[in-house]
Amino acid sequence: MVQKEFKAESKRLLEMMVNSIYSQKEIFLRELISNASDAIDKMYYRALTDDTLAFNQEDFYIRVSADKESRTLTIADTGIGMTEEELERNLGTIAESGSLAFKKENEVEDGRDIIGQFGVGFYSAFMVADRVIVNTKSADSDQAFRWESNGVDGYTIEPGEKTEAGTTITIYMKENGEEDSYDQFLEENNLQSIIKKYSDFIRYPILMNVTVQ
Ligand code: ADP
Ligand code: MG
Repeated sequence: MVQKEFKAESKRLLEMMVNSIYSQKEIFLRELISNASDAIDKMYYRALTDDTLAFNQEDFYIRVSADKESRTLTIADTGIGMTEEELERNLGTIAESGSLAFKKENEVEDGRDIIGQFGVGFYSAFMVADRVIVNTKSADSDQAFRWESNGVDGYTIEPGEKTEAGTTITIYMKENGEEDSYDQFLEENNLQSIIKKYSDFIRYPILMNVTVQ
């Protein structure tokens, strides 16, 4: 398995994410849920327009699960998924909106104003995570892939096990610091209120499971 480096501008954005102020950290959920929703939109459209695919409204949802014991938060969607090339292209470099935030960020000394305002994208997961695993299977491929990164040393991609199209993102929460408690992102009530705050515009059900032990 080959360890790949992030592109230079991705590295800079990642540093900004990791050092962002605490009050902004919760927006990672907004970003990951909006990505899940975008991916489901694509699958939804395909199922609606392709006569060879069955269309069931209940197949389209986002599931958020927290496990306090392993300190993981999982965001799973039944969207279009990603091929190996798409994983490489989309998560190895910054996508359009991420680049926009990055350019603006260069104009101000630190990124504080930017993070809340712009779509900062997938990498915002590294505000709360010290490891992120993306298990994904594209609707256009039989082979699933697994992307993994600690947000610092680049990333790896290897064949995965997922059998249904869609993407599951597993976030390993950072250890609590003196001032920062990442445990709050594993608490059901708190997760619910963050999700409600940022997900008004999401058209698919967001289901929740919390495993306490
Ligand atoms: P943006 O959403 O603005 O394009 P992001 O950094 O949030 O930027 O995401 C980068 C890209 O990664 C997306 O455009 C999409 O192609 C891909 N991606 C991210 N999350 C998912 C997901 N859950 N399912 C499928 N593709 C995804
Ligand atoms: Mg996005």
